[in-house]
Amino acid sequence: MEGVHLVRRALTAATAALTLTTAGTLLAGTPGQAAPAGWGRPIVTAAPQPGASGLGDTYFPDYGNGGYDVEHYDVRLRYDPATDLLTGTTTILATATHDLSTFNLDFLLDVESVRVNGWAATTSTAGVHELVVTPARTVTRGQQLTIVVRYSGIPSETLVGGYTGWTRTDDGALAVNEPESAWWWFPSNDHPLDKATFDISVSVPTGVEVISNGVQPRPPAAEAGNRTRWIWRTTSPTATYLAFMAIGQYDIVTDTTPSGQPVVNAYSTSLGALGPAARASIERTGEIVDWCGGIFGPYPFEAQGGVAGPVDGISFALETQTRPVYGPGFWRRGANTYVVVHENAHQWFGDSVSVAEWRHIWLNEGFASYAEWLWSEEQGEGTAQEVFDFVYASYPADDEFWQVLPGDPGAGRIFDNAVYDRGAMTLHQLRLAVGDEAFFEILPAWATEHRYGNGTVAQFQALAERISGLDLDDLFTTWLFTAGRPDVASAARKVAPPAEPKSWAKIREAHDLMSH
Ligand SMILES: [Zn+2]
Repeated sequence: MEGVHLVRRALTAATAALTLTTAGTLLAGTPGQAAPAGWGRPIVTAAPQPGASGLGDTYFPDYGNGGYDVEHYDVRLRYDPATDLLTGTTTILATATHDLSTFNLDFLLDVESVRVNGWAATTSTAGVHELVVTPARTVTRGQQLTIVVRYSGIPSETLVGGYTGWTRTDDGALAVNEPESAWWWFPSNDHPLDKATFDISVSVPTGVEVISNGVQPRPPAAEAGNRTRWIWRTTSPTATYLAFMAIGQYDIVTDTTPSGQPVVNAYSTSLGALGPAARASIERTGEIVDWCGGIFGPYPFEAQGGVAGPVDGISFALETQTRPVYGPGFWRRGANTYVVVHENAHQWFGDSVSVAEWRHIWLNEGFASYAEWLWSEEQGEGTAQEVFDFVYASYPADDEFWQVLPGDPGAGRIFDNAVYDRGAMTLHQLRLAVGDEAFFEILPAWATEHRYGNGTVAQFQALAERISGLDLDDLFTTWLFTAGRPDVASAARKVAPPAEPKSWAKIREAHDLMSH
């Protein structure tokens, strides 16, 4: 993500307060411990229990749910831009990981019915966004579940702490947000620990476009009532917050990369004079993905692209899987390839390798930000060292910036500048400590070893130590987990303030143009 929007902090505060009250129930879904089998002792299994209302995330304890693992979401929707009415049926294919008396889904819209393996279930709501499902029959560990949820609502008017993660626009809507997005359009196990594949189909009035993740298995098809159904499919494991929809008036540009990947780019017709700068940036996605691949290893997904959102849409950009979505602000001062580099670097760091907990957000934002520094070097607009020296000097030692720990910023600061800028500085210090050869071995090794999975900062440190043969504990502790500006040799050598690299205006604009 780029461009922090302040409204998110209100939601974080609201959910943090409410999750405190539900924290006591988190352990309720701990599976019954079976006694060890052997020598005639019977295997004792505890009675089925409620699935946990969260996955134990330190920052967001009630995000995601325990007791089952989702393989696939079939999200079938009908949407009307004129009213913002969304109706739909989501079919979830999952496997129970515990014996369950009830289980939760994260969802906010009005639920009409839920069926589990064909049998009608009863439902209730709890906490901020919990839909509690009581199946007619007890669910047993290992059982395949087909959960069908029928629902409707007006997402822009469905508020949590005064906030909606759904953005209604003049001509449609954007379901694009982090970390809360799914609650407003499909029921889910809403945490990056439970990735799944997606089929997303949306019926809209004919003439409205719908763009989503992956590929289009078939062209948009006419339906009764002057409507058209758009169908999208992603076959790579996808975190719930990285599924998206952009609905509205878009010009769609399709192509194929030299490697045979489908490309779908889309440009809101509302962009007007900003349109050419958006195209001059997003149409370079293939080149940028190839460049990233040369450093990070093979591109992990089945399609590429980008969506330039409308002028009244989001003010940030998000690394939605296979196809980032960009707010209009990035194009106000001309083309900006740095934001395209940032969001596409996230395809490796964030999307394919996702955080195991949200407190590990540095593994996303520090890496995507450092990719911009590498791009600056590639473009001849300032070496990574020059960017480091400038950014380091631009935050005085007594600046509050240095009080935020990139390795543990706190739930309300996961998108703080420190996670991006000090996060990128940390990777540069790692590069200096281990040398270029080891550093450019560590990055693709991380992407490969945790491909389609999750990671923690400790796991990354262990990998860097294994490849470099160095003890890096001081470096990680100092740069990620200690308040205050660390001393660096390169800054001590400087007699004059370092010059601003050519790239910095665009990088800075990409980071926080919209929030300051
Ligand atoms: Zn980002």
